[in-house]
Amino acid sequence: MARRVVVENTVLLIVRDPIDEPEARAILTEAGYQVLKSIVVRRVDPSCYLGRGKLREVKSVVDALGVSKLCVFDELRPRQVTCLMRELGVEVLDKVMVILEIFSRHAGSKEAKLQIELARLRHQLPLIRDWLRRAKLRELPGFLGAGEYAIDAYYRHVKSRIARIARELEELRARRALERAKRRESGMPHIAIAGYTNSGKTTLFNLLTNLRKPTGTELFTTMSPKTYAVKMCGRKIAFVDTVGFIRKIPLEIVEAFRAVLEEISSADAILLMLDASEDRELVLEKFDSSIRLLREVGAHGIPTIVVLNKIDVANGVEELVDAVTKVSSSYEMNVVDVVPISALKRINVDRLKESICRVVECL
Ligand code: GDP
Ligand code: MG
Repeated sequence: MARRVVVENTVLLIVRDPIDEPEARAILTEAGYQVLKSIVVRRVDPSCYLGRGKLREVKSVVDALGVSKLCVFDELRPRQVTCLMRELGVEVLDKVMVILEIFSRHAGSKEAKLQIELARLRHQLPLIRDWLRRAKLRELPGFLGAGEYAIDAYYRHVKSRIARIARELEELRARRALERAKRRESGMPHIAIAGYTNSGKTTLFNLLTNLRKPTGTELFTTMSPKTYAVKMCGRKIAFVDTVGFIRKIPLEIVEAFRAVLEEISSADAILLMLDASEDRELVLEKFDSSIRLLREVGAHGIPTIVVLNKIDVANGVEELVDAVTKVSSSYEMNVVDVVPISALKRINVDRLKESICRVVECL
């Protein structure tokens, strides 16, 4: 059989509902993958996720495109993961694993990092248990067959690591207030750019900081890996490109998500971004759930500018500004302004900067 040519970091995406496809794609892109194709799977098979026919179709796409991974944007059972890997001969990522990859890019504090590692290990454990059982039964062929001894050793390693992290987190929680005070090392105001994935956070971050690509080397403070300081309003201000909010976040990683959101709750001001080009209903729904999330992580006292982005492709912007302004006053949030912009086409950015400066002056 001819060996397949595999292209690094490429994925074939599987979604249940076409509605989830753009978000899944954006999340994978942010995690550093290139999505070569996506396939919608409506009927799920309990033992292999894909039914017989779908499995053949996916197999031929995997081989033809040479993807390095299959991403199923859904919650998978261990035996489904094992079965897919065995049948398709590629590594399989599920929704939880992809989201955790993004979280780890945003985790600044020790606590957030541990919280994410804990979630990842806990997620892996049942899978390793499944492999161990199969290895004992000699059911694992080829590249899954690391051998019973190796899998068993790894299983025990993961279990003891989980126990250790859980202990460390207990200790850290007790010292949390202290850590937070230390993190304020620089004294300069930190402004978090928050909002759903794909609302344009990174585009605005790059625009405000004049960065083309916010990559590791130039990053600035220790608070978050995606923070960069610039001179604005006559002083230095740090902008933070925060982790995107995600719809329907799997329960098992909610705690890790909260820990990552501290990059927002410990900021001095928030730019809450919404994609104004989406349906009015959806924009308001996302606004509502963003505000609720911010309140949950204790960010409600923080001055917040709502940024309605993508006005270059949006209709009825004025009405939307009015609607968002009106709704804002009914929340116990500190919304200080609502500013329509286009980060991509650089429309109204000066107006946003003025608003930012007004907030910063009052800090
Ligand atoms: P993030 O996930 O919130 O960081 O969003 P990105 O900054 O990665 O942007 C998501 C997509 O929206 C990209 O394709 C951007 O080019 C696009 N985008 C961002 N801002 C604008 C805008 O003002 N207008 C339009 N038309 N597209 C935009
Ligand atoms: Mg981004």
